Amino acid sequence: MQVHAYGAHAADKPLEHLNITRRATGPHDIQIDIAYCGICHSDLHQVRSEWAGTQYPCVPGHEIVGRVAAVGAHVKNYQVGDLVGVGCIVDSCQHCEDCDAGLENYCDNMVGTYNGPTPDAPGWTLGGYSQQIVVHERYVLRIRHPEADLAAVAPLLCAGITTYSPLRHWGAGPGKKVGVVGIGGLGHMGIKIAHAMGAHVVAFTTSESKRADAKALGADEVVVSCNAEEMAAHAKSFDFILNTVAAPHDLDAFLGLLKREGTMTLVGAPATPHPSPNVFNLIMKRRSLAGSLIGGIPETQEMLDFCAEHGIVADIELIAADGINAAYERMLKGDIKYRFVIDNATMGA
Ligand SMILES: [Zn+2]
Ligand SMILES: [Zn+2]
Repeated sequence: MQVHAYGAHAADKPLEHLNITRRATGPHDIQIDIAYCGICHSDLHQVRSEWAGTQYPCVPGHEIVGRVAAVGAHVKNYQVGDLVGVGCIVDSCQHCEDCDAGLENYCDNMVGTYNGPTPDAPGWTLGGYSQQIVVHERYVLRIRHPEADLAAVAPLLCAGITTYSPLRHWGAGPGKKVGVVGIGGLGHMGIKIAHAMGAHVVAFTTSESKRADAKALGADEVVVSCNAEEMAAHAKSFDFILNTVAAPHDLDAFLGLLKREGTMTLVGAPATPHPSPNVFNLIMKRRSLAGSLIGGIPETQEMLDFCAEHGIVADIELIAADGINAAYERMLKGDIKYRFVIDNATMGA
C-alpha cells in the first residue's frame, strides 16, 4: 500500500513529500488512518542524524493518533473506527524479562517507530509523518478522550508517557513535593500530570517570563533557577525532581534540593554530557540520580486512561505538513507553547 508521507533524504535536507509503502495488514496487525502526529524533539535529532545511524529516507513521528481502518483476522480487541494511538514502540522481542513485565521500552530488541530494524520495506521503520501506519496489535493504544481532543492527545504518546512513567514509579502523589525542571514539551506535561496525581508541584525555569505560564499549567510554586535565593529557599525539601532539560547543566544545583532519600530522574537526552555531579551531594543524604525512558505499553495505556479521566491533553499548535520545517526552526528557538502537532490530512498535497 502506497501512502503519502513527509520525510528527509539526507541529514542536511529539509523534509518533503514522499510516497512510502506500508505492509499488508497481517493477522495480528492494525491498519490506522493517522489523523494527527506530534512533533517531538527526538524527531529533529533523528532526521538530522544528530544521533548516529539515521537511515534515509527518514520519516519521523512517534506521537500518533487516528482511527482503525482495518484489522487482521486474529485481532480481537480493536474494531474498524476505534480511536487509537501509537507511541515510540512498534515491536519488541515479546519474551524477555522486560517484555514479560510489560516494560517493552527496556527490551534490548525494542523497535522504535522510526529508524528501527524491520523486514518491511525499506528495511527500517517509518514513523507517523504519514497518512497510514500498520502496527502489531500489542503496540496499539486505545484513546478514551473525546474525539474533539484528538490532536492534543497526540503528544501524550511520547511527552505524556515520558513524564508519567517516572512520576508514577517514584511515587508522586498527595503529600509529596515534586519538582519539574524545564517548561517545554516534556515539562508542561510533567506539571499537569504531577498536579493531577495530587503532588505539591514546583516548576523550575530559567526565564522569569514563564512564571505565570507554569502556574496556569498547575504548578503550586515556580522557581527561577538562576536566582540563588529562590533556590536556597527550597534546599533539602523535595521527595522527587523530574528533570526534563536536555541541555547540559549543573545537576548539583538541583540535587541539593532533594531531602533525605530523594531522587532526581533525568528524561532529557543531552547531545553532550552534563558536568559530573558532586558525589557528596548523593552520599550525604542517601540521594539518588536516575534516568527513565518513555514507558511500557500497559503503562502507556494507564497514562492515556488517567489523562482522559482528568481531562489532560497537551497545549498544542496545529500545523499543516508543509509547515514542518518551519516548526523545527521555531522548536530550536523554544518558540512553541508547548508542542507542534501535524494535521496529517494535509500530507497529500
Ligand atoms: Zn518523543
Ligand atoms: Zn523483550
